[in-house]
Amino acid sequence: MTLSFDPEKLKLRSITSSSTDGVMRSMCETTVSAAGPIPNTRGEVAHMHQPRVADNNTPYWWEAAPTMPLPQRPLPKKLDVLIVGAGYAGLSAGLSLAREGRSVGALDAMNPGEGASSRNGGITSGSIRPDYATIARRFGEEKAIAIEAEGKVAREFLYDFIKTEAIDCDFQLTGQFKGAIGHQQYERAARSAEQLAKKLGIESYAVPYAEQRNYIGSDFYRGGTVRMDIGGLHPAKFHAELLRVALSSGLAVHSNTAVTSIERDGAEFRVVTSAGTVQARQVLVCTNGYTDGAVPFLRRRLVPVRSRIIVTEELSPELMARLMPKRMMLVEGRQLSFYYRPTPDGRRILFGGRDSSRVGDPAAPKLFLRKGLVNIFPELENARLSHTWFGNVAMNRDMLPRIFEKDGMVYATGFCGSGVVWAPWIGRCAAHKLMGHGEEAQTAFDFRPPAFIPFYRGNPWFMPAIIQAYRMQDRVALWRARR
Ligand SMILES: Cc1cc2nc3c(=O)[nH]c(=O)nc-3n(C[C@H](O)[C@H](O)[C@H](O)COP(=O)(O)OP(=O)(O)OC[C@H]3O[C@@H](n4cnc5c(N)ncnc54)[C@H](O)[C@@H]3O)c2cc1C
Repeated sequence: MTLSFDPEKLKLRSITSSSTDGVMRSMCETTVSAAGPIPNTRGEVAHMHQPRVADNNTPYWWEAAPTMPLPQRPLPKKLDVLIVGAGYAGLSAGLSLAREGRSVGALDAMNPGEGASSRNGGITSGSIRPDYATIARRFGEEKAIAIEAEGKVAREFLYDFIKTEAIDCDFQLTGQFKGAIGHQQYERAARSAEQLAKKLGIESYAVPYAEQRNYIGSDFYRGGTVRMDIGGLHPAKFHAELLRVALSSGLAVHSNTAVTSIERDGAEFRVVTSAGTVQARQVLVCTNGYTDGAVPFLRRRLVPVRSRIIVTEELSPELMARLMPKRMMLVEGRQLSFYYRPTPDGRRILFGGRDSSRVGDPAAPKLFLRKGLVNIFPELENARLSHTWFGNVAMNRDMLPRIFEKDGMVYATGFCGSGVVWAPWIGRCAAHKLMGHGEEAQTAFDFRPPAFIPFYRGNPWFMPAIIQAYRMQDRVALWRARR
């Protein structure tokens, strides 16, 4: 999925800052029970029951693969490598390290996977937000080419891992359709699809408006493009399976164990956690959209942005076949874009987009998504929703994922809403970097840390303004395209 955030495009005018450790990790949402409204951890209370909003506020994915605490085990006094965070990135890194015989522990403040890795849309997009020209302008032509090519390598790494480790995660290489908002966008996307096929040998092509209904049961877009190297998986099953493989390879995973501070201790690190102190030779930070005050350097450089998903109740097979005839993953070219797909059993539609609900009516973002869904598929006007939830994606100023080193610590992060492909790959590369394996650690994403964000220490106070600006841009683009 892609969720737009580019603070460089906006002038930050007001200055506030406050610590938000609790908010960033707050997973609870306001719910309404028979006994009345229950405030969530931020003290918000739902005004009234909203029949058009799903009642189940936990991820649909957790029904088949719930996240769980692991059996408590004592923390070791010493480790070769301590990993903070046990999502896709932390586990993938831990797996590579454990298989090379390192003593390695991954510590997670929540249940492993309870961050974005069991909450996402499961689209194996591996997309990069800035386009080729922008990357070339900022970092040079060579890096732009390398980044584009690495998407293919990272996707193949994921697919190969799923196959060779017999990962049971409902993966289907369905292809992805990207809808264009107007004619100009279609023309540009068609040229990019041609380039992608020519330069990287990826099966990709343009779909004119007249043929659109072969791909999506909607007239909302003005044509689109297809790429066949993208598919969908069940994200929570994928995480559970990655955890299984990592544990059996010797990675020690400690759930509900928060790292509270990391200090340099000679050539090593002294890591203070909620379960005691660990001496580690090396530290790898994989906290992404859930980064808190334990790693202040990263917190000033990553903005957690909420992404929300709604899921319909089961739809009839005929309706599903009409709306999603090829069962492809679906995305679009808006700034505040939606991402959507059939659930792996093909019976429901899962629909995601941005959520700016830190303040105000907690039902609003759910209704916003519902409206987006019905705009694209008017046939769903009366469809009921079953589930809704949100999670944090991590945005940074240049919108590129990263491996970097700072004061001896390594970071693997900044997946900007596309971590299903990037997090396992970047985690693996970071592990090889820690082991000093030059060739296997090679990646175009190992470079300087992301720039810090002025007047920001973890509370993304500027997000409502950014979202508002993008909303306006989208409205104007749609109006122009539909004139
Ligand atoms: C709603 C949603 C939809 C998405 N859809 C897609 C999609 O369709 N395709 C795609 O490619 N990507 C998608 N993404 C993005 C993708 O899920 C993430 O990029 C990816 O899961 C990041 O993995 P990670 O391991 O880096 O981080 P996470 O899985 O978020 O794990 C970070 C972990 O760090 C832990 N942590 C933080 N601080 C500490 C601390 N101090 N001590 C101990 N532990 C700590 C947290 O508890 C958390 O478990 C989506 C994300 C969301 C939220």
